[in-house]
Amino acid sequence: MARVLFINGGSEGHINPTIGVVQELVSRGEEVVYFCIEAFRERIEKTGASVRTFDDQKFIKAFISGGRDYLLERINGLLLTTDIVIPSVLEQIKGERFDYIIHDSMFGCGRLLAQILKLPAISSCTSFAQTEASFDKMMEQFSIKVPAEIVDKFHSLTVMVKEQYDVEIRSPYEVFCNPAPLTIVYTTREFQPFGEAFDQTYKFVGPSISTRLTQENFELTAIQEKSPIYISLGTVFNQAIDFYKLCFEALGNTDHTIVMSIGNKTQISDLGEIPTNFIVKNYVPQTDVLKYTKLFITHGGMNSTNEGLYYGVPLIVIPQSADQPIIAGQVVNIGAGIKLQMQSLTANQLREAVDHVLDLSSFNKASAQIRESFQRSGGYHQAVDEIFAFKSQHDI
Ligand code: UDP
Repeated sequence: MARVLFINGGSEGHINPTIGVVQELVSRGEEVVYFCIEAFRERIEKTGASVRTFDDQKFIKAFISGGRDYLLERINGLLLTTDIVIPSVLEQIKGERFDYIIHDSMFGCGRLLAQILKLPAISSCTSFAQTEASFDKMMEQFSIKVPAEIVDKFHSLTVMVKEQYDVEIRSPYEVFCNPAPLTIVYTTREFQPFGEAFDQTYKFVGPSISTRLTQENFELTAIQEKSPIYISLGTVFNQAIDFYKLCFEALGNTDHTIVMSIGNKTQISDLGEIPTNFIVKNYVPQTDVLKYTKLFITHGGMNSTNEGLYYGVPLIVIPQSADQPIIAGQVVNIGAGIKLQMQSLTANQLREAVDHVLDLSSFNKASAQIRESFQRSGGYHQAVDEIFAFKSQHDI
């Protein structure tokens, strides 16, 4: 049995794929101490890990204070979270011994903590992976007009980190992607853009989908026979009341049953009259709903896309932000769905897109094909096999 330090931040998308991994680690005898924000305590405690938290309000405030307009500002935001996460983690594990660390590829300052604690490190990557070269290319595109003070800020933050924690940051890539000797990526090499560019330290284990073990207020029997259309913009970029109303206009009072998850930032009562063929919730047990779904209208978050394709559901992707346009592009490339633009979307266009994807069998065929490769890839079982192989390489 080894002791594992698990470091994550606080968002569904970064937490959910790790649930199965931690459950499996615990069932194979590992002792896992999992750091995240308070909101995920219950979900993670049910895996058998012991949960410790850092201050979520301060964490989010620090991250956002880096700025939102440029990628480098987000990177500065991540650096600004070091003073919230690192002292708190170090204080809470004082005097304890760990054998290795698993950290999120973005949130939680994992690479820095691995260096400070001198622990063998594994990165948990819940989006597409990036090589340093692909990341630099993206930075170049986004960096054309980055104001000098943002670049200066990055340098002064790296100096501050060096002074405070005696660890070197060589590049924005290290901060944004937290590279490690082993990276677990929760998709397949085939679905990953330029999958062949990644060496053997990247293990593409496929979607990590497990029972969530949380009580969710949703009557699954109401949809089991209905093959619904499922609509969700995920848990972050989901404040979109006009879009939800547009869905009513496009698909209300049709023969389709529609399940729509609107997130916690919109009140159901603000949507006005709900068509009788719609079930609207702030949150649904998505992986259960997808088992019965015939079409998924999604923002193209990595997890939602993985989960939809894992169950062979064709997709209409309406990207909102972040990596979603790239993910939407991959869905289109494999023929498992189409992409629509949020800004110019009309109810007519959405209705026609729904008819198009449901009528053309090629979308169903392509998503059935990817379902097979996703289900074959092993998910969290494979992730833990890779982690155990890593352990033996490091004599743990
Ligand atoms: N999710 C859920 N119920 C909902 C909405 C979302 O269970 O009503 C889960 C979904 O299954 C996925 C995660 O939240 O695992 C969303 O992650 P994703 O990467 O798709 O998008 P994000 O929320 O990070 O934008």
